[in-house]
Amino acid sequence: MKEIRIYPKLELLNTWAIDRTRFSPDATKPPLCLRCGQPLAPVLAQNALSRHADVYICDACGTDEALCDAIGFPKRFILWDAVENQRLKAPADDDAWLLKPLCSFDQIYLDATEDQMGRKSPRTELAYSRSDYDGRKWWTTWFTVYEELKTPERVAEIDQFMDALFALPEMASLNTMRRMCRIYAEPTADPTECNLYCDTERFHVWLRLITRKRDYNLYVHFYVKESEEK
Ligand SMILES: [Zn+2]
Repeated sequence: MKEIRIYPKLELLNTWAIDRTRFSPDATKPPLCLRCGQPLAPVLAQNALSRHADVYICDACGTDEALCDAIGFPKRFILWDAVENQRLKAPADDDAWLLKPLCSFDQIYLDATEDQMGRKSPRTELAYSRSDYDGRKWWTTWFTVYEELKTPERVAEIDQFMDALFALPEMASLNTMRRMCRIYAEPTADPTECNLYCDTERFHVWLRLITRKRDYNLYVHFYVKESEEK
């Protein structure tokens, strides 16, 4: 089964696994803190274990992380020094679909037109789903946007994507989703809403995540890629 991963979780772990080998036991040339870019202390125990990933960060970052968490605004991974400065080492042989907090396909919204329901949608939108978490499980309703875009292969990929998405531990409940939003997702003006994006073989996917209780909590929009269009 195809997997979905949230960027840059595995990249951080992989980079740390390599950095950690320099502590043997103490580092003569310590690696840079993944969070701020300053050198770590040469003695591993003088650094701090991050609360958000199983990686060591410098002592100053450990303190800062505790403060940021206390006010509910952790430093998003996308702003970590190793991510911003592209120091991450990607895992080898990885063909998972990556959820990212950056949209690579905003141009598709420029040619939005009114669909059957009078809703403005990019003309490449095949369908979207709307889900809510009732405290025990997810409930999903589907809306077809442009019926003529449907093919068996595309529908199969959408099913695969949704199965992989709900298999993520971060989607186990509204609480885990909320934690994921704070550290991985793209924020919006509304603190209870955020975005994630994904490029699959056939689609650009936009996930709108809403962390309010007793509301719709997730919309997933599927836009057929240009290279896929008939
Ligand atoms: Zn640091």
